[in-house]
Amino acid sequence: MNRHPAVYGLGRTYAAHAAEMGAAPEPVVFVMPWTALVPGGGEIPWPAGSELVHHEVELVLHLGEGGRNLDRAAAEAAIAEVTVGVDLTARDVQARAREKGHPWARAKGFPGACPLGPPVPAGPFRGRWGEIDLRLEIDGTVRQRGRVAEMRPDPPGIVALLSRWFELLPGDVVFTGTPAGVGPVRPGERLVASSRALGVRLECSLLPPAP
Ligand code: ZN
Repeated sequence: MNRHPAVYGLGRTYAAHAAEMGAAPEPVVFVMPWTALVPGGGEIPWPAGSELVHHEVELVLHLGEGGRNLDRAAAEAAIAEVTVGVDLTARDVQARAREKGHPWARAKGFPGACPLGPPVPAGPFRGRWGEIDLRLEIDGTVRQRGRVAEMRPDPPGIVALLSRWFELLPGDVVFTGTPAGVGPVRPGERLVASSRALGVRLECSLLPPAP
């Protein structure tokens, strides 16, 4: 069997978002199938079994190296590229899963759940991750605005933490969690995720549910 990269998602890495979800600011990790990724965004099918999809704008890391038990320096060096992404979440499916203590896989990993922008080299941001800004607009109105400075752990800390629990591989993609301001997305609304520091912009929209 070949080994394949994975898509990791972090939750509750921004205290203000954890609070708006009624949760403690303690990082949680979930894993998504590769088919959740949509490089470049575009039109995304509505997730089956959901009536409530939320947007979560996030910094996304692309790993150039893998490994286990990476120290902070190795974890930082492993981050090859970065971009913005949207962790689309079937919030009603997630709420039902949370109630029952079930995994979040269906809420987070549906096909197209993770549109992401064009990756840019991470080198210039090493040692100054906090300066990266995140922004999400829907039909021209700003809904989320955040800075990586508010994120705990920071990107190298997240990769180091993941490498204690998983064997990381080159090509792994990490969604690092969302700042406050998440909310519903309706079919046809135009989402624009961007970061001025990264010089990256991503557009996507959800198609209406299948009849
Ligand atoms: Zn998220």
